[in-house]
Amino acid sequence: MTIGEFDLIKTFFTDIGPVSGIALGVGDDCALLDIPAAHQLATSVDTLVAGVHFPADGETHAANPALIAQKALRCNLSDLAAVGAQPLAFTLALTLPQVDEGWLAEFARGLRACAEEFSIALIGGDTTRGAQRVITVQVLGAVPPAQALLRSGARPGDIIYVSGTLGDARAALDVIYRPSAQLSDEQHDWLRRYYLPSPRLTLGIALRGVASAAIDISDGLAADLGHILDHSGVGATINPSLLPLSPAMLTHPQALNFALHGGDDYELCFTAPPRLRTAVENIATQLQLPITAIGEIIAEKTLLQHTGEGGMTVLTRAGYQHF
Ligand code: ADP
Ligand code: MG
Repeated sequence: MTIGEFDLIKTFFTDIGPVSGIALGVGDDCALLDIPAAHQLATSVDTLVAGVHFPADGETHAANPALIAQKALRCNLSDLAAVGAQPLAFTLALTLPQVDEGWLAEFARGLRACAEEFSIALIGGDTTRGAQRVITVQVLGAVPPAQALLRSGARPGDIIYVSGTLGDARAALDVIYRPSAQLSDEQHDWLRRYYLPSPRLTLGIALRGVASAAIDISDGLAADLGHILDHSGVGATINPSLLPLSPAMLTHPQALNFALHGGDDYELCFTAPPRLRTAVENIATQLQLPITAIGEIIAEKTLLQHTGEGGMTVLTRAGYQHF
């Protein structure tokens, strides 16, 4: 006999993450949160669907449930990072075709590890039956009024920056969908980047008052920078030869394409006026995180890239889209 809905919740989804600041967690009709005084509540929700966002069971490359849980929470935390919010708590809505206790135990183990690493508690959710596994995580965070980093603040002359390195997560997709028996060290690195992206939470908070606009790169640099441009009513020139690549990507034949158009990196792309260049550099030093200037905001509403020969061409914004 399989366990029922309420035992399932009790067994796997209570006591995940630290309880400080949580007035009431899992179990009642609502959770109750103490929000830090004089802050705005930041909230975002994201859904992962089996067969779309991660391989379904039965596919040869079926994903480890602990890693699926990690990715679900990390992608959401990345949205908090992108607005400069500090994480408070999260909820989990889970649709399952059946109760597979082995899968649930592994999923909960990954979720717990991630919740502890980022000091964020699971305070509630919903559990339902459905044809496919669907995992919806909602995060709640706090940010002081008027300090959230928005997509809409970029101005001509601002410098465009990205954190970390780009393209690694896209390289992982080829490893996942064309599995081989023996993985190289690089391939292991790419898989880690794909399943365990690093939400840049401390960077987002440090960029309050410094960045004029910010976004996290989930669909690819060109597509996501494009959102900043649209929301800000500006354009940009970027220099592809400046894009930060990991050592493993340097020799990849598709490195540039993946860095521009591959998704899932969850680095931050942000803009800041040139007078704050030193402030940005100091943040990079303090956080020991590479931050690379890759281009500039321009008034004309186009996205251009430098060519090797000193010219400019239009850069397609192609990235991942569901529809
Ligand atoms: P209601 O019917 O009042 O909406 P539920 O029966 O759906 O409540 O859930 C009971 C309690 O368990 C609630 O506190 C809810 O937030 C929590 N819960 C349900 N599913 C999950 C889950 N997957 N993870 C965490 N908490 C959950
Ligand atoms: Mg109720």
